Amino acid sequence: MVTITSWDKLKEEMKAAAAELGIDKIGVAAADPFKELKARLIRHRELGRESGFEEKDLDKRTEPALLFDDPQSIIAIAIAYPSKMANPPKSEPGERRGILARSAWGLDYHVVLRDRLAKLEAWLAARVPGFRAESMVDTGALVDRAVAERAGIGWSAKNCSIITPEWGSWVYLGEMITNLPLPPDRPVTESCGECNACIDACPTGALVGPGQLDAQRCISFVTQTKGIVSEEFMTKIGNRLYGCDTCQVVCPENKGKNWTHQPELQPDPELAKPLLLPLLKMGNREFKDVYGKSSSAWRGRKPIQRNAVIALGNFKDRDSVPAVADVLRTDPRFELRATAAWSLGKIGGDAAVTALREAREREQDEQVQEAIGKALARLIEKEA
Ligand code: SF4
Ligand code: SF4
Repeated sequence: MVTITSWDKLKEEMKAAAAELGIDKIGVAAADPFKELKARLIRHRELGRESGFEEKDLDKRTEPALLFDDPQSIIAIAIAYPSKMANPPKSEPGERRGILARSAWGLDYHVVLRDRLAKLEAWLAARVPGFRAESMVDTGALVDRAVAERAGIGWSAKNCSIITPEWGSWVYLGEMITNLPLPPDRPVTESCGECNACIDACPTGALVGPGQLDAQRCISFVTQTKGIVSEEFMTKIGNRLYGCDTCQVVCPENKGKNWTHQPELQPDPELAKPLLLPLLKMGNREFKDVYGKSSSAWRGRKPIQRNAVIALGNFKDRDSVPAVADVLRTDPRFELRATAAWSLGKIGGDAAVTALREAREREQDEQVQEAIGKALARLIEKEA
């Protein structure tokens, strides 16, 4: 066992050991309450801009002492992930493909971060008698980005990500609250400056100001919902099956940054950019077998299948009409049938019109009937 002469020394040793623990960046934050953040979260809620997936208790999100007995510091970690796929399969007529956001490539990042935090806990426990910690990954109450900013991992960017000077924003964040009085790091001094590229590029105007996200307008959130998506968003979703990377892809700080050293996080191209037609027929068990290890599976298969139907509509590929018509005819989920009606209305052609007319005769659900009516009206308008 190493004799600890000072907390500074332990921190330096921990930083030196990070790489061999599979951690790309590590920093320390004071465990004080996040007072400014709380004010921002209250405002965010009042404006109706939450996604609904967050921890509801704002005190828990901003006060480490409510989560851990006598917290002394928070250790923040970052793990860099790939932004590019080697040899991505082509999306071609008859064989159209969707895309998962980079954060869903490879093994579920929760699993990878938990593994790294567990290794770090073991490393610290071997050196400090009485060491206590509570590790958190995304689903924990604390706001990862606020902790990472305070711990000097990166700056809080206008696109709401944390940008690290070394790895760009292609990083997963995790943290642990500890009883170790480690000296805190300083926040990084870089910033977005005059750049507004992400705000300008966001397809839905979800970045309502620098670092302000209206989650209800963010495609990343919309792709994870389970209901019928509004027409505006269906068009803007494009071929995204899960998440959206646009505001990170356009960021100049990410230019040329692609990280391939974490083996579990590398994408399987057939999963990250999958064929759309086979997805439509996938049962629950097959979905779990194929996607169960990806973070994209957390909401089940319905959102991804619905998004696949949307993507086929956006491709306007008439080869896909029989498969989409089959969803409209046989899928037991009204959300899928309504989406299929929209998709057929986008694709058009005689076969799509026939499928919609047949469905109009048989469909019992009001929302699906409404979608069929709109799709037929659009197609008939087009012909007129
Ligand atoms: S993830 Fe997509 S929709 Fe959401 S803010 Fe970024 S660019 Fe806009
Ligand atoms: S695109 Fe520009 S403004 Fe947006 S996060 Fe990157 S550097 Fe900041």
